[in-house]
Amino acid sequence: MSITPAAPAAPTAVGSGPDRPRVLFIGGLGRSGTTVVERVLGEVPGVCSAGELVHLWHRAVLSDERCGCGRPFSRCPFWQAVGTRAFGGWDRALAERMETLRARVDRTRFIPRLALRGGRGRAGKDLDEYVGVYRRLYRAIAEESGAAVVIDSSKHSSLAFCLRTDPGIDLRVVHAVRDSRGVAYSWTKEVRRPESAAGTDLMTRYSPVRSALLWLGHNASLALLGRLGTPTRLLRYEDFVADPARSVRELAVFAGRPGPQPLDFLDAHAVTLGASHTVAGNPMRFTVGEVTLRRDDAWRTALPRGQRRLTTLLTLPLLAAYGYLHRSAR
Ligand SMILES: [Zn+2]
Repeated sequence: MSITPAAPAAPTAVGSGPDRPRVLFIGGLGRSGTTVVERVLGEVPGVCSAGELVHLWHRAVLSDERCGCGRPFSRCPFWQAVGTRAFGGWDRALAERMETLRARVDRTRFIPRLALRGGRGRAGKDLDEYVGVYRRLYRAIAEESGAAVVIDSSKHSSLAFCLRTDPGIDLRVVHAVRDSRGVAYSWTKEVRRPESAAGTDLMTRYSPVRSALLWLGHNASLALLGRLGTPTRLLRYEDFVADPARSVRELAVFAGRPGPQPLDFLDAHAVTLGASHTVAGNPMRFTVGEVTLRRDDAWRTALPRGQRRLTTLLTLPLLAAYGYLHRSAR
């Protein structure tokens, strides 16, 4: 099968339905607040947050890491029902196949090929197979949860470039961005992965130079996705925590859930979170109860001056484009 044309720019042009799952994909570099954005949006009626599904195959199906509800993946009733509905049950062979296909089609370095629809021959077949499995997965999540919108917070833009090739997926992308200096500081800190076997593994750490370059690359490719016609909405983490209700309302409309949405789980600076069945992601996905939404500005004092200046310099054009150099945004 050849690669199919791009999805139309207007989110409602083709329509959604049980056969055409609507996916709100949260893209952005890690440590940009994507987990908290996903958790808050997941409280909106008719929206189901599923976590970072790109990691489902390895971390959940093959490694049986814990779901956001606290149970091991293999003992979470929600995910077992989804697996049965989508694939007749979870299967190690399918997960291994998806990891193989991911290496062949879903990599940052393949974005130019994906953007140009250059995938012909075997690459095109692999892409169709890979995306077809996601379509079945999203459909099963929507049916099992009863939600009209499934959030996939995989973050990696390469997966969004793959998904947009399938007109059977109603894809809408939230491009999450955070000040590159805040992101750089966050990547230097030690964060435990509580879902790892011993609960003591640490999340990856990057130097400020590495995170600055990744920040540029992720944001440039997400911007390209929008220019190619995929419905995309920019969300600054700082704006989200300053007025979460406003952001949630705007994103609910973008996701095709026009208001008025009851946002009783949200007040000016706090959210009350219920348990969620999210696979993979930041440890915050396990948090239940009231959470304060507060801008994390620790980098202003904790990021060494030299690293801060270097990060500013490396990311300057996009920092300016996103308004981070305006005095009011600091
Ligand atoms: Zn669960």
